[in-house]
Amino acid sequence: MFGVIGNPIAHSLSPIIHNSLFSYFSLPYHYEKFLLTNHQDFPSLLSNLHGANITLPHKEVAIKYCDEVRGVAKEIGAINTLYHQNNHWIGYNTDAEGFYLSLEGSEIRNALILGAGGSARAVCAILQKHNIEVSMLNRSAHKIATFVGVKPYERGEKYDLVVNATSAGLQGSLPLEDSHLGEIICKATLTFDLIYPSSSSVKTLEDFLQFLRRREDTLFCSFSKKHKIPTIDGLDMLCYQAFLAFEIFCENAYSFEEIKQVFYP
Ligand code: NDP
Repeated sequence: MFGVIGNPIAHSLSPIIHNSLFSYFSLPYHYEKFLLTNHQDFPSLLSNLHGANITLPHKEVAIKYCDEVRGVAKEIGAINTLYHQNNHWIGYNTDAEGFYLSLEGSEIRNALILGAGGSARAVCAILQKHNIEVSMLNRSAHKIATFVGVKPYERGEKYDLVVNATSAGLQGSLPLEDSHLGEIICKATLTFDLIYPSSSSVKTLEDFLQFLRRREDTLFCSFSKKHKIPTIDGLDMLCYQAFLAFEIFCENAYSFEEIKQVFYP
């Protein structure tokens, strides 16, 4: 049994993704949602699972339950995937790799991250790992000091990539005042919104495939398009982090490309 652990968890698309993949590859596994209100209950929940995805607000605390942490998760200090192997719980952060893969090889030398929360940490670590210079701007400026090797935002500077890693879109707002954001975005070559459009009507694989093909723009992506700047929303990242986790759950029996073609034929 596999599953996603979070609070809240009702909205999660992970079960549709993973159960569709288990079924496509004829694997006898099942994936469920688990609401975890108290992280003290982590060990008893994990004892029934072979592997798990971890979502808000448990990504940081979950690292305490790992016997080993692999890859960029060590720099981030948070995991979103746990796999039980040889009596060990191994932790990974596939959010960061999923984000990077969804940039599809775009040429980027420097990036501005808007936001300084958990997802900004994952984005920052993976960009730095690929030698991309990172600057940051956050509503609560003091939080930026907790990021290593990050430059403060400088007004007027050109940033190739602008990443919206704030949750402002969930409140129906842009992360900055329109004119300030426009000034930053119009110099960029690419923007990225970690948020993805509402998925409340997605119940089956077929719904999901339709959703991938015909998604609406998020507020930030729509703002970027108005400035004629190419933009990417967080839906590919969500899918790619799940495909990378699936690769781990199947002990690399299937490659990322084989898994991806199920959802991106
Ligand atoms: P956190 O709660 O850790 O951080 C939220 C950040 O948003 C903080 O920097 C906060 O600023 C900022 N913020 C919140 N409201 C506003 C606002 N109105 N104006 C400006 N800044 C604001 O969240 P996460 O980093 O975990 O997640 C951020 C977003 O990324 C979420 O919406 C989430 O859905 C999305 N996400 C998408 C993923 C994907 O797979 N596509 C994966 C992970 C996250 P302050 O410090 O001042 O409070």
